[in-house]
Amino acid sequence: MTVLPRVGLGTDVHPIEPGRPCWLLGLLFPDADGCAGHSDGDVAVHALCDALLSAAGLGDLGTVFGVDEPRWARVTGAVMLGHVRELLYQNGFAAGNAAVQVIGNRPKIGPRRAEAQQVLSELLGAPVSVSATTTDGLGLTGRGEGLAAVATALVFPV
Ligand code: MG
Repeated sequence: MTVLPRVGLGTDVHPIEPGRPCWLLGLLFPDADGCAGHSDGDVAVHALCDALLSAAGLGDLGTVFGVDEPRWARVTGAVMLGHVRELLYQNGFAAGNAAVQVIGNRPKIGPRRAEAQQVLSELLGAPVSVSATTTDGLGLTGRGEGLAAVATALVFPV
């Protein structure tokens, strides 16, 4: 059988909860409100994990980090990404690279893009590109009600 790389995609959306710590892209943004959620609410890491699982054909975030499992309550993005990396390895895959885009008004990603890329790349063991955009005031992200993220990933058999 020919061994080929595989691509995957992931998306995530969470409501913003005033006063909640803002974990995004594996970083804490102290001046922004964070997202509600069973975990730390890091939509970018969630989308990234979903893309990696998608690429490897290992289901999705809900399959792996079920909200019924107490051990995943308040789980950090770093732990999730590390766990997905291990799952890939156990199933004969390694990440080639990944890209994640945050959609929302705040926090501003640009000033910490390099830091986020470094943190996520080290956690994954492969290059992770980070970008961000807004929706020009439209929709739930434009109104500041939530944050969204989309991600793609490439994995290859090892
Ligand atoms: Mg999520």
